[in-house]
Amino acid sequence: GPTIISAGELLVEFVSHRKGCGLEVVSEYSGPYPSGAPAIFIDQAARMGAATGFYGTVGDDGFGRSLVARLREDGVDTSGISTDPDRTTGTAFVSYYEDGSRTFIFHLKDTAAEAISFSAEDLPDGELILHVSAASLGAPKLRNVIVQAVEAVLARGGRISCDPNARPELMRDDAARQALQEIVEQSWCLMPSTSDLGYLFPGLGEAAAIERMLSAKAEIIALKRGAEGATLISQGQRFDIAPHKVEELDPTGAGDGFCGTFVGLLAQGVSLEEAGRRANAAGAIAVTRRGPMEGNSSPEEIDAFLAAENTRA
Ligand code: ATP
Repeated sequence: GPTIISAGELLVEFVSHRKGCGLEVVSEYSGPYPSGAPAIFIDQAARMGAATGFYGTVGDDGFGRSLVARLREDGVDTSGISTDPDRTTGTAFVSYYEDGSRTFIFHLKDTAAEAISFSAEDLPDGELILHVSAASLGAPKLRNVIVQAVEAVLARGGRISCDPNARPELMRDDAARQALQEIVEQSWCLMPSTSDLGYLFPGLGEAAAIERMLSAKAEIIALKRGAEGATLISQGQRFDIAPHKVEELDPTGAGDGFCGTFVGLLAQGVSLEEAGRRANAAGAIAVTRRGPMEGNSSPEEIDAFLAAENTRA
């Protein structure tokens, strides 16, 4: 099958042990947990058995080495990850409130992640799927590299998958918004959450937004509904996938785990409905585990989870 690639930010995250208070409070943390939306995505696609590769930059430090080691261990081709000796690997600190909401302090600006570069010659031979996580489009350097990669992959006849996880901050930036709109229009597979639809298609209801996406290049749409499950749409087919009943511990990474599972399985010829059922399970598993990439799961874990028949009827 095709090789799935993604590019963008690599960082490590530290999760506060104390729930319910902001980051101004002295606390203990767990970490470093590997993170970065495109990295969580590609790790999960690799765990599903797809051929995968990643493009990005880390610092010459322990955090960077832990990121590369984890991706490589999970089967990602990391030869596209470079090391910048003059910069450090980015970090994020996160604290959770009782209602599940989070507060972050990011240190990404001027870190190694922004030293990313890309050349079309670095792309592997053969059929390609490039996955874009909209979260990467905010920083100008990352955005430029991702736009170049999209153009190079399309020029090669490859396909684009996109998680348009459009944060409101991102949508205030004209350049980021325009880059996202153009990528959405060029995507073969779109995996928005219900809240993304409001940013992408203001004023349109869900059905009209879906029509709009299908009238561009999209052949497959997976609508992520959080604790309400997911809806899959392709070529006149529609599957509503019932959510699993789980206790939400850390929602970070559920969307990326869903997308990595879905695209990873589609690339290997798994049917739309089966890929969506497994992605829905992977997303549910992810919210039960602390740490962004720690929420990713193996095919065996997904099998066992599905066999437990824990869906909300
Ligand atoms: P993120 O917070 O990572 O950006 P997202 O908004 O892109 O997430 P969600 O819709 O929150 O994505 O989650 C992706 C998928 O994971 C959902 O469509 C669903 O299948 C599953 N999922 C997420 N949260 C839950 C939950 N609380 N219970 C059951 N399944 C869930």
